[in-house]
Amino acid sequence: MMISSENINETNENMSSEDVVIRGLLFNGAVNLTAISGRTLVETARQAHGLSHVCTAALGRLLMQTAMMSVQLKNSTDNLTVIFDGNGAGGKIVAVGHEGGRVKGYVDNPSVELPLKANGKLDVSGVVGTDGELRIIRDLSLKEPYVGRCAITDGEIANDFANYFVVSEQQPSLVYLGVRVDPATGEVRAASGIMLQPLPFCPDEHITALESRTSEISKLTRLIEEGGKLEAVLLDILGDIDIEITETTQPMFSCDCSREKIEAALISMGRAELSDIIEKDGKAELVCRFCDRKYNFTREELTELLNEAETKEDVND
Ligand SMILES: [Zn+2]
Repeated sequence: MMISSENINETNENMSSEDVVIRGLLFNGAVNLTAISGRTLVETARQAHGLSHVCTAALGRLLMQTAMMSVQLKNSTDNLTVIFDGNGAGGKIVAVGHEGGRVKGYVDNPSVELPLKANGKLDVSGVVGTDGELRIIRDLSLKEPYVGRCAITDGEIANDFANYFVVSEQQPSLVYLGVRVDPATGEVRAASGIMLQPLPFCPDEHITALESRTSEISKLTRLIEEGGKLEAVLLDILGDIDIEITETTQPMFSCDCSREKIEAALISMGRAELSDIIEKDGKAELVCRFCDRKYNFTREELTELLNEAETKEDVND
């Protein structure tokens, strides 16, 4: 099913989705678990941006990790911006998360495709690049946003997050992210992720027990593709480790752009630039980077905005 970019916001909310983020505790609270099944979320992003196969995998992994981190946000004004700036073939890859696991994001070069790697997998690190840094900006409605950064060493995204949590937040983490793309159509068949974070008092034996499950954990997306539900698959791959589920949330790809915000951006360009657009083009089409939604403005509408810009500048003068 194709959906046009014009109605992406509405469509996403109506699209039937089995996406879920599960939060829970292992070993009586010694380890925090967050897991996601996000096929609809990633497929919506793919259709919105016309992502290539490899960019679907790269942005999909980033969006799911951002969704897993965003369900921890406590206020509606809190947000989280994650930027992979690794000088890969895709350019910058950016995701923003809001409360409740609502995420949006983009790849600078969304249509770039790369040959499969020798092991037959999509070359995500080729798109992300390994010559640069990962930045995470947490805007938690405080005076200043908190910015953390670390070098990108792997480029496959999951390990880069694990490394970031250790380097920047002193939080050891096991992160797995997987997106399975139909080789013929590019459609997302399954997408999932898991993040395990031991608390400081967690005994070593529990960490060893988790590490012994890593090869099982890496089967998560395949098991979901085969029809497994996230909760059942988690029980399966964690073997005899009990999960106490504390919260489930439905994440989604959802952009908060609006005509009002785009108008405000046009007004803030100032009257000189606005007059220039009116004279030269007589109209304007602005595209939201995060969802590819298009906003068209006629000469009359631009002239109205120009009048507003003049009023504002007069007030400021
Ligand atoms: Zn948008």
